[in-house]
Amino acid sequence: MLQALRVLQDGARAHPGTIVQTTSLGAEDMVVTDLIARHRLPVAVATLDTGMLHAETLALLPAIRARYGIEIERWTPREESVVHFVRTHGERAMYASIELRKACCGLRKVEPLGRLLSGRSAWVTGLRREQSGQRGTLEQVQVDDAGRAKLNPLADWTQADVWHYIERHDVPYNELHDRYYPSIGCAPCTRAVAVGEDIRAGRWWWEDEAAKECGLHVERAITA
Ligand code: SF4
Repeated sequence: MLQALRVLQDGARAHPGTIVQTTSLGAEDMVVTDLIARHRLPVAVATLDTGMLHAETLALLPAIRARYGIEIERWTPREESVVHFVRTHGERAMYASIELRKACCGLRKVEPLGRLLSGRSAWVTGLRREQSGQRGTLEQVQVDDAGRAKLNPLADWTQADVWHYIERHDVPYNELHDRYYPSIGCAPCTRAVAVGEDIRAGRWWWEDEAAKECGLHVERAITA
């Protein structure tokens, strides 16, 4: 916990006024928001409202405001892009092909993330190495493909560490987690997992494991 806090404190010091936590409002991100709020760190908090989130996820926005007194920035996709995409490919395009699923993630997540990060020199995520094979080499401090610092303070935390922190500090969390949704994204692309399934098995479950990222996390580790 101390190491995660140190990463956040160092990041806030190194990037005054230009650091932001991008939260999916999942359990890990709630831990990071709690650390930021508890220690009054000057880090903005923002989320991507794709227009496809569960009501339970959106319910966390007023809960965070009430608990911490902070306002979460809400970044949405460009309306004309969504309208055009849905008109052309339909509401269920994400199931038709990986290309269309990625196109949907592109306009609902990647493009708004670009705007969210514009003018910012550092961002903070709740990613953990344990979450998937593709995240197995995650470092606490990385550089994204645009050269921004990307801080992953929970990189070496286990799932048990996350839930221990949530319980200990009474952190608000998405009630879908109690209904066997360990990883929560957009409603059409997230399902509950069965006992013994991987924690990311409920995300884009109809696709091969190798395809299961949405394009938000492209980075390289800082080696110096
Ligand atoms: S997760 Fe699903 S609904 Fe959300 S942006 Fe990606 S394809 Fe679209």
